[in-house]
Amino acid sequence: MLGPVILAASRSDRMRRLISAAPVTKQVVDRFIPGETVDDIVPIIEERTAQGLELTMDVVGEDITTPDEARAARDAYLALVDRLAELELGERVEMSVKLSMFGQALEGGHDLALANVRPVVEAAAAIGTTVTLDAEDHTTLDSMFAIHEELRKDFPQTGCVIQAYLFRTEADARRLAASGSRVRLVKGAYKEPAQVAYQQKHEIDKAYVRVLRILMEGEGYPMIGSHDPRLISIAQELARKAGRKLDEYEFQMLYGIRGDEHLRLAAEGHRMRVYTAYGTDWYGYFMRRLAEKPANLRFFLRSMVSKG
Ligand SMILES: Cc1cc2nc3c(=O)[nH]c(=O)nc-3n(C[C@H](O)[C@H](O)[C@H](O)COP(=O)(O)OP(=O)(O)OC[C@H]3O[C@@H](n4cnc5c(N)ncnc54)[C@H](O)[C@@H]3O)c2cc1C
Repeated sequence: MLGPVILAASRSDRMRRLISAAPVTKQVVDRFIPGETVDDIVPIIEERTAQGLELTMDVVGEDITTPDEARAARDAYLALVDRLAELELGERVEMSVKLSMFGQALEGGHDLALANVRPVVEAAAAIGTTVTLDAEDHTTLDSMFAIHEELRKDFPQTGCVIQAYLFRTEADARRLAASGSRVRLVKGAYKEPAQVAYQQKHEIDKAYVRVLRILMEGEGYPMIGSHDPRLISIAQELARKAGRKLDEYEFQMLYGIRGDEHLRLAAEGHRMRVYTAYGTDWYGYFMRRLAEKPANLRFFLRSMVSKG
């Protein structure tokens, strides 16, 4: 029951100020967001790729309020592309973006977000890699899918994310699978009302399997975004039944969660991509990680008390 409370807190400015300023928070945050700058993150990219892992990089900072901040977000991604170009890792390191950070929630936001994300997608293509559009709360998704479709006209490798907890997702999966898209399937990390989303874990898990079957049997490239051991073995079984080779789908997990499993899957010959977030505006991302696992919150609170 704690998850929804933490997700509500993730939208509170007062909580943001309190938590961001707490003296011990940074140390706890580092588990999930291992750096603030591109310079911090390059050694992590080098280390993980040397271990046979792939990465998708996320610059945190979804809560922007002005077009200038949206353009700064675009520039932060372009600076990342410059560094990736030097590393010459191609599609082994791609990028994940949240359109809210590119201005989607501002006035005229749909066009602004498209105008800001396009140069990032272009720059990524120029160095042989790609971009995946993250899925945010359900009110943003029609715009996200429209931007995805628009970008795919010139950059068909652009990916997007769908969330198993939403009722709409089976239909989205059918459309995307038929068009041969790269699609990351996740359970869903936002607080959504019962009118649009399953609320119970077992319903979400069942929906995940239904959607995964659609993706595996379709024409696209499925990216299985989950740490759930049951879903990972079901994914392997569905891939086998669909006759997919090991390089015709991939697993994705978050930095800081089940690191041994990242290495185990890579050692089995799977493509395993680690979603790695960095930057200074980590509050929203961090709170979603706390909401997913109450033990994270207990650890966080204990560290505050012991230092306090
Ligand atoms: C690569 C990737 C990209 C994502 N992108 C999006 C997105 O664009 N939009 C979106 O809404 N959501 C996104 N998510 C988050 C996702 O929706 C889930 O909230 C998150 O993955 C937890 O669900 P799970 O499938 O891992 O299963 P769960 O049943 O939540 O977890 C399974 C097991 O994984 C471990 N685990 C899971 N979460 C944590 C955690 N925070 N801390 C410690 N251990 C944990 C635990 O051992 C847990 O028992 C993404 C997730 C991944 C892996």
